[in-house]
Amino acid sequence: MKVYVNKPLCTGCQHCKDVCPVAVFELRDRADVANVNADVAPAEMEWKQVSDKDVVAKWKDVQDGHNHFAEKNDGTSGGISVAINGEACILCQACLIQCEGECIHIIDDSGTEYKSIYS
Ligand code: SF4
Ligand code: SF4
Repeated sequence: MKVYVNKPLCTGCQHCKDVCPVAVFELRDRADVANVNADVAPAEMEWKQVSDKDVVAKWKDVQDGHNHFAEKNDGTSGGISVAINGEACILCQACLIQCEGECIHIIDDSGTEYKSIYS
């Protein structure tokens, strides 16, 4: 299984890490660009230190028990999820329905792609 995160869309909510039964995801500081870009995301989904403005607008003022985009809530600080262990994925799909940024991609061995849809 190939798993990666579209980084500019990631709010850092950590839901993926919390629900994944096989520890595919790790949250890394978005200031640490090289380590954030350590999964197999294609170039257009790599972290270039700019969050998607529509995702920031959608989440920055939402009050649901945790900050979005961490301390500043504006996309400039906090963590981004990195799929460090995609080979372990068992396609339970838990992360796909919990991802605020709808930014997780999973591609199985036959080439079928699964994307997150927040519910
Ligand atoms: S679908 Fe894969 S990456 Fe997502 S929570 Fe399940 S095992 Fe983890
Ligand atoms: S659930 Fe989605 S938005 Fe939240 S940290 Fe994981 S990849 Fe990022």
